[in-house]
Amino acid sequence: MYPDHEFGYELLVCRYAELAWHPSEGRRPAIVARQLGTRDRRWDTVVIEVDPEAFALRRAFGDRGLDSDLLHVVRHAPPEWTWYRDALPDPGYPWRYVRQAVHRAAGRGLIEKRRRGNRIECRRLRPYPDWVRRIVAIENKPDLDRSAADALADQLGHDVETALADEVWLATSATGERVEPALLRSMPVEAGVLTTEFAGGIDEDAASVAWHPSDIAPATRDPETITRRLVIAERAYGKGWRSFHETMRPDCHAFELRRAGRGLLPYCTAKKRCQTARECSGSCPEFAPEPPTWRTRGWPIEGGPGKGMTALLARRRERMRDRQVDAQAAGER
Ligand code: SF4
Repeated sequence: MYPDHEFGYELLVCRYAELAWHPSEGRRPAIVARQLGTRDRRWDTVVIEVDPEAFALRRAFGDRGLDSDLLHVVRHAPPEWTWYRDALPDPGYPWRYVRQAVHRAAGRGLIEKRRRGNRIECRRLRPYPDWVRRIVAIENKPDLDRSAADALADQLGHDVETALADEVWLATSATGERVEPALLRSMPVEAGVLTTEFAGGIDEDAASVAWHPSDIAPATRDPETITRRLVIAERAYGKGWRSFHETMRPDCHAFELRRAGRGLLPYCTAKKRCQTARECSGSCPEFAPEPPTWRTRGWPIEGGPGKGMTALLARRRERMRDRQVDAQAAGER
């Protein structure tokens, strides 16, 4: 099954990255997410290369990502009981938000808190580890024509300039006609180009490097950029790339997950193709909820197929996170 739209293509690029990262430098432990970035710039696919040992310590902070307020608390929580205003750096916004974040962090078991008179004190349970090695941004464009190439060249040029990521790539399809070399030449030289061959299904060999990227990481980064990168990495950690089920309708009786080699893609039996995230919503004219009987008597997975698919995708995300830790234990790197 090969989707002919960008959403399905993006899912395949994510799965390829999960299986094969790094495409030219050999295996590196990494987690993959999609549609992440900053307010000004959203990347299609994001690869977070991790330090496996530190990543194992990050796992101890739970499965959910930490937002910027929680990161502020968790990264600076002191080893001994301290009034939170003495312990944490001035946030640059009102302290009452920090106090709320202290309560939230304690509620999630990320730190400890106690009240001393009218003061809230906190202390860390464990240090927050330095688990992010590199951040890689990939722009996906299966059908690269002149106007798409011009737009992408601008976006990738912006990425190179801001150096929020350490490496940037364009992924484009090599299926059918060869990618026009003149279009690739218009890309910034620092951006890598990955040509994909997904028609036969997804595996580690489903893409090849047409142009090698340069490392665009600056010698040093200011604290604000470091925090922005960490926020992106935390969102990638919590979200992964399989969270499409959260916005699509796996509870529709036409929703299926179908194999594409070593990947699973959403499939609509009503449309007889891989549906887009946008069209697979409650406003879809063909939406039909699972019959209630599907959800009873444990058919065939408890809670009905929609719940079953959601659980399956969540388990796969979990397994991929575990695998990055296992890579360390197995001495794979
Ligand atoms: S019929 Fe509509 S809502 Fe149902 S799976 Fe297909 S696209 Fe999604």
